[in-house]
This record gives sequence, structure tokens and C-alpha cells, in this order.
Amino acid sequence: MTSPRKVHIKSFGCQMNVYDSFRMADTLAPEGFAETGTAEDADLVILNTCHIREKATEKVYSELGYLRLLKEQAAADGRRVTVAVAGCVAQAEGKEIMRRAKVVDLVVGPQSYHRLPGLIARAEGGERVVDTEFPPEDKFDILRAPSREATRRRGVSAFVTVQEGCDKFCTFCVVPYTRGVEVSRPVEKIFAEVARLAEAGVREVTLIGQNVNAYHGEGADGRDWTLGKLLHRIAEVPGIARLRYTTSHPGDMDQSLIDAHRDLPALMPVLHLPVQSGSDRILAAMNRRHTRAHYLAVIAQARRARPDIAFTSDFIVGFPGEDEDDFRATLSLVDEVGYSSAYTFKFSARPGTPAAEMDDQLPEDVKSERLQRLQRAIDRQYAAFRAQCVGRTFDVLFERTGRYPGQLAGRSPYLLPVQVMAPASMIGAIAPVRITEISANSLFGVLAGHDARTHAPVLAQAGA
Ligand code: SF4
Repeated sequence: MTSPRKVHIKSFGCQMNVYDSFRMADTLAPEGFAETGTAEDADLVILNTCHIREKATEKVYSELGYLRLLKEQAAADGRRVTVAVAGCVAQAEGKEIMRRAKVVDLVVGPQSYHRLPGLIARAEGGERVVDTEFPPEDKFDILRAPSREATRRRGVSAFVTVQEGCDKFCTFCVVPYTRGVEVSRPVEKIFAEVARLAEAGVREVTLIGQNVNAYHGEGADGRDWTLGKLLHRIAEVPGIARLRYTTSHPGDMDQSLIDAHRDLPALMPVLHLPVQSGSDRILAAMNRRHTRAHYLAVIAQARRARPDIAFTSDFIVGFPGEDEDDFRATLSLVDEVGYSSAYTFKFSARPGTPAAEMDDQLPEDVKSERLQRLQRAIDRQYAAFRAQCVGRTFDVLFERTGRYPGQLAGRSPYLLPVQVMAPASMIGAIAPVRITEISANSLFGVLAGHDARTHAPVLAQAGA
């Protein structure tokens, strides 16, 4: 019997890439590829790349430099290693990658992952293959579902892609070019995928999409359903206790989604709503299609629907033409909203986007200084949000064993990591935990009804 070949998939960037990497592994499993955590013993290495972060392309080339050495060593040992580049950098710069990096056998864009077995067979046959098409068939119909065993291995919390692509064309963003136009999966296919995950022990599902709240998939009634309606349907899956979704656009927050926050206890009280800037002038230059006032109105609506909701966001500082007043408008918006955390980025031009061609690009030192000021404001809010957790009790979903013996690691409804002394049998369970301490990265707590020092159950005293 031949031993299975091994595939190592290295994922960069967003949750969509993490999900895509799992689906690639699931599609390759029936072809005889077992997953491995290291490139060194793999027969096939796939870099699943991200184009959003600064220097993403350089990162890919530096990885490829290492893989070239690995491939040469393997060849000297009489072993063939196939190297593939997938994801958004592959989509945007596939031909250039092939030209610059001879180590690469295959470039595959996100819309073609269902074709991987055939593409890899061609690459293994000695052909250098590029597939960055937007094929007419629905890749989700063809991509394989994970086995029960693979789902178990991946834990109690899972991502499910419900929507891909974006039609918004923000002037700084490559997504509309790399992922194409908005496409939504039909409701019942998503329901079936979530039901399969739940049967394998998943308790929390995060519905993902580049612009997830633009979801408009076909429902069982033949009509287009909103994300709010989809969330109601998914909440019916037995065993699914927690729902989340990301990433949303402020212009697509409709009433059904706000109502879902009010009506669905399973929908966790966190809304990640990127704003990018607090200045209307910059929002217009970014082609964000919403104003500061609209954004704040959505925040207020969500707070009315779910008073304990927390907000997170994405910000870009130093967009072309941003002056000190624009930047101060961003700082004042941060004050006004009060975030639990946020991602902050310095503007960096993405080739092929309109913002890259704008005249009034800002000097690096101005961008860096603004980034630091914004980050300080966000850090203060993050620290305050975590500090007010101490003494409170949260339901924690236990995900895995913790750092120390006897400890489990889980997440609060607000996604904060929580470490608790609890038996391993509680992995997958949700239990109330009283937060006793915070550190730089985690909250620490004790199971409700347990002693904070000994972690033993507190027994009720016999009454007189
Ligand atoms: S809405 Fe989001 S994904 Fe779409 S273009 Fe704008 S930043 Fe990119």
C-alpha cells in the first residue's frame, strides 16, 4: 500500500482564506493528500495569499525563496515537491509570479479551487499552470465538504462562507478585482453545511463574506433572502449555540439584520463594522458610499436593538488628501462610538486601484504619526473594555485545552479569550464564568459556583 501524499497549506490574511484553505484540504483529501503542519515533509505546498496587508507580495516572494531551497533539497533526495500559489495575490499577480519565481508550478485564483485536483495533476506532469479565471460553474457546488474527522480536528468553532466578492469598489481596495462581483450562496445549501458541522460537534458558526451583509441568496421560497433572514434560519440548526458574521458594510445594514440582533439570542453581541474614516470628505474620496452621520445612525440603531452590543471596526489613516482636520474627525468618531477593539492601518497603495493613482499621497512620517495617535485611542478603549469585564459573569464556549494543565481556553460572547480551570470534558460546552483577572492577552476566570482560589465547587451550607 502506498502512503498518502502530504499537503501543507499556509494561510495568510483573512478568515475567508482560512476557510478556503480548509476547503482546499477537503477537496484534496479524496485525491490521497493528507494534511501536514510543516512544509518540510510535504509533497505539495500551497501558499494561500492575501493582498490586503502591506508588503503582502514581498512576503510571498520571501516564502517562495525558502520553498525553492526546500524543493532543490527534495529533488536531491529523489522526491518531487509541487509548489502552488493561491489566494488574492495569485489572482492579481499570477503571471508575474510565474515569471519571477520559477519554483512555482501552479497559480490558482480563489474562484478555481474546485478545479485543484486536475490542475495539480497537470502541474505534477511538468506543466506550469495558471488558472485565474472566473469560471461559470459554482465552485461551492463542487468543492468537497469536510469529513466528520476533519471537522472534529478543527474544533467547535467554524467559518462558513455565505457570500463572496464585492460590487462596492472602494478606491483603496483590491477585492472587487480579485474576488469578483458579489455572489451569494443559496440559503438551504448553507443550512445543510451548518447542519453537517453541528453534527460533527461545531457549536459556533461565523458566516463570512467580503461584504457579508450584502447577502442576497435564494431562499426555499425562491426569493432573495437578507442576511438577517438567513441568520434566523441558521439559528434553527440543532446544536448551534452561537452565531457571528463578518465583514459588513455600513450601507448594507438593513432592518432585518438589526432586528436579528434584537431577536436572536444566539447572535453574539459584537458588530464588526468598518468605517475607515470619520471624515465625510475622505469617505467620499474612498467611494465608501456612506457618510459619518449614516454610520453613527446605524450604530445607534444597533445599540437600541441590543443594548449590550460591542463594536469593532477597521480604519485607514493617511488616505491621499487626508488633512489634520479629517484625521481629527476620525479621532472624534472613535470617541463617539467607543469601540471594544479595532484594526488600524496606514494607507498603502494597491497597484491597479484608483487610490494608488491619486495625486495627493501623504508622506510616510505623517501616516505613521497619525497611525500611532489613532492606535493609542483604540488601545485606551480596548483596555477599558477589558477592565470592565472583571467581576462580571459571561457564558464561555470552551474551545481547547489551555496553556497549563487542567486549564481550558474559551471565548466570551465578545470574542475575548478566557482561561479557566475546567475538565477537558467541557470542550464544546458553554458555561457561565466569573472573570477574576485580566492579562495582556487573556481574561482569567472561574466557573460560576466555584471557588476563585481552589476552583473547587462551592457547596451550599446546610441550613439551621
Ligand atoms: S466594501 Fe469592503 S470589500 Fe468591498 S470594495 Fe469596499 S473595502 Fe473592499
